[in-house]
Amino acid sequence: MTITDNRQTRIGEATVAEFAAGLRGKAVRPGDEDYDRERSIWNGAHDRRPAVIARAAGVADVIRTVDLARSEGLPLAVRGGGHSIPGFSTVDDGIVLDLSLMKGIRVDPQRRRVTAEAGGTWKDLDAETQQFGLAVTGGLVSSTGIAGFTTGGGIGWLMRKHGLAADNLVAADVVTADGQFVHASADENPELFWGLRGGGGNFGVVTSFEFQLHEVGPTVLAGLVFYPAEEAEQVLRGYLAAAAAAPDELTTLVNMTTAPPVPFLPESVHGKPIVALGAVYSGPLDAGDDVVRPLRTLADPVADLLGPVPYAAMQQMLDPLWQAGAHNYFTSAMMDDLPDPAVEELIARWSAKPTPQSEIHVHHAGGALARVSASASAFSQRTSPYLLNVIARSVDGVGFDDDAAWARGTRAALAAYGPDTMYVNFTGEAGDDKVRASYPPETYAKLVSIKKRYDPTNVFRLNQNIPPTAQAG
Ligand SMILES: Cc1cc2nc3c(=O)[nH]c(=O)nc-3n(C[C@H](O)[C@H](O)[C@H](O)COP(=O)(O)OP(=O)(O)OC[C@H]3O[C@@H](n4cnc5c(N)ncnc54)[C@H](O)[C@@H]3O)c2cc1C
Repeated sequence: MTITDNRQTRIGEATVAEFAAGLRGKAVRPGDEDYDRERSIWNGAHDRRPAVIARAAGVADVIRTVDLARSEGLPLAVRGGGHSIPGFSTVDDGIVLDLSLMKGIRVDPQRRRVTAEAGGTWKDLDAETQQFGLAVTGGLVSSTGIAGFTTGGGIGWLMRKHGLAADNLVAADVVTADGQFVHASADENPELFWGLRGGGGNFGVVTSFEFQLHEVGPTVLAGLVFYPAEEAEQVLRGYLAAAAAAPDELTTLVNMTTAPPVPFLPESVHGKPIVALGAVYSGPLDAGDDVVRPLRTLADPVADLLGPVPYAAMQQMLDPLWQAGAHNYFTSAMMDDLPDPAVEELIARWSAKPTPQSEIHVHHAGGALARVSASASAFSQRTSPYLLNVIARSVDGVGFDDDAAWARGTRAALAAYGPDTMYVNFTGEAGDDKVRASYPPETYAKLVSIKKRYDPTNVFRLNQNIPPTAQAG
């Protein structure tokens, strides 16, 4: 049977009890003391009530859980760090496979490799690798899971120098839809390995990731520069010119946001629109001042917080602004160019945002990311130098539909400046059109063929789904 919808069957008490008894981890069920805590995910917009939350302690638990979902025909939500924007890591009446107890990490400093179980976050991984002055591209917020981030591609502060997280994946252990445990690398199951690097959670449950590491820091030249909203046009134009000239060691983004009430910003700007530039220069520190100077002289800054900082601290700098529980919607577009009319459009849309928490990010891509061939992995959108991410955010959910509509409208207004494609990790909806917009047709066709082989009945369908029955093209 091919399962393409989220039909549910009820699971018997006896079946759940037998399953729970066989787990090395823990099965959490409705009525359990920790049920409400364990069923929640980062995005407060998704409030679901799973039938069972299987907190796996290892590969055996993962296999048992996949087998249960398949044999009972229940929807299966796979959870690494729980940061899915469309809420794929929870489900009503189905099974959540929660990997967050699986956080083992082992660094091999000589070979510059790290092997990490799939339940860890970037905070966990950075702590271990930075002990040896090593790192791999991780998320901008350190509570993001290694698993969902990497399988979607994974953009971060090191991407222009070292590529995406997925570009640094050397191998993965995977539990497939039929409960088999397989190794995927360039030599073993190479097609699966290709699909895991950008194809999301479609092909199985990764239980462990092996990454190539690079010398980074431990101190980098990094931080934020804030500019007044009134100077947005000049700042954006200057930023784009500076980004175009930046070396690979410098990765930056613009955040058109609202000034948070934090001590490092003057009270006079709290709650007001503000342009924040984020930057990490991971090259030699003594060369960094000259490289970042253009970013700090675009206008008269409200605050300049660029300076030497431990890389691990930079990775956590934004965490307080991205606490769990708020309602969030992301929508994205790759951008080929941001000419003056695009800058004007960005500013006009920003001025019209319905809630102060909503914001517009422009990430500067290129560098190492762009030098990987589009056919090397499922992450194929490598030539556009900018990535737009429009974020609708409401702390209590009031008016959230309007926020999301604003985000969609903003994306639509800017999409003409690029190939009208999306980044799968920054896509808040699951529609077939959104998934197809995340992959060029030839990549999509290959993903369908890999899906047919590794998950022909679509056990793994709570994701940016590639149905095995999809028509390519
Ligand atoms: C605050 C915040 C900041 C973010 N910053 C960035 C950023 O800087 N760069 C970036 O690229 N993205 C970023 N993202 C997006 C993020 O990469 C995706 O939401 C990603 O899916 C989160 O992974 P996770 O493991 O935390 O999520 P989860 O919700 O646990 O998982 C998301 C999906 O990933 C798949 N998945 C999870 N675990 C596994 C597994 N073990 N094997 C196979 N598939 C699995 C499943 O399909 C699952 O539904 C951010 C998201 C948030 C909420």
